[in-house]
Amino acid sequence: MYDFEGQTVIVTGGTRGIGRGIAGRFLEAGAKVIATYSTNEAAAAQFRQDNSQFADNVDIQRLDVTKYEEVDGFFKYVDTNYKSFEVLVNNAGIRKDSVLAMMKESDWHDVMNVNLAGVFFMCKFAVRVLMRRRYGRIINVSSVMERYAFEGQANYAASKAGLIALTKSLSKEGATRGIMVNCVSPGFIVTELIQDLPDKLREAYLERIPLKRFGSAEEVAACVLFLASREASYVTGSNLEVSGGL
Ligand code: NAD
Repeated sequence: MYDFEGQTVIVTGGTRGIGRGIAGRFLEAGAKVIATYSTNEAAAAQFRQDNSQFADNVDIQRLDVTKYEEVDGFFKYVDTNYKSFEVLVNNAGIRKDSVLAMMKESDWHDVMNVNLAGVFFMCKFAVRVLMRRRYGRIINVSSVMERYAFEGQANYAASKAGLIALTKSLSKEGATRGIMVNCVSPGFIVTELIQDLPDKLREAYLERIPLKRFGSAEEVAACVLFLASREASYVTGSNLEVSGGL
């Protein structure tokens, strides 16, 4: 639907789950994709194999977004090998649920570090490049939990709500430099992240979703590609929910 020929796109956590769907759609649309992963070598190898028809356009890099020095090194690598890029999708995210009274301090920090600090690090280095170019698209993957904030998700919901605020603030800083910064907020999407949902809870959630089904990574990807396109030239600071009407 959109043409990304000649563009370079970075997708964090881009080799599995929603990120894999997003990276795949960008490849189909002609982009060069740098897909990062943190630990799952098998998923990264599978992603490379499944996208062998785009071999010249696929670059898989290991990157822990919580490590400032690694993020710095990653952008140096991008500068050396690509000179520049047009699109950054901050998709990497984790959840470590438990009721607040029982939540481990480390579970609070881990979720904040990946979901919020990681996005800050990525954006900090990315906007320096994009501002020079006076063009760019940043899409942050939040969650409808920023609004619903279910029990047991104080850390996750707070991180995703913070991401909406980060996005809005950065969108104002980038606006006059041609950098559009937006969020997509998925509802329940079939990936490993929600594999551990107990059957009872799964049924209860399905009942609440007006479309009566969970979404797919490809359905989230379609929205990301729109926000990343040249056509989305008057959309910034927004949050597009992809939730089946939740
Ligand atoms: P997933 O667990 O399948 O994938 C998470 C990705 O994040 C992986 O690729 C992993 O490598 C990456 N990641 C984790 N820690 C990292 C780190 N320290 N550094 C770099 N990368 C790291 O989950 P998913 O469902 O595909 O989730 C993708 C995004 O979508 C997340 O931000 C998640 O919060 C969001 N989301 C998912 C759902 C859903 O229902 N699946 C709903 C709303 C929002």
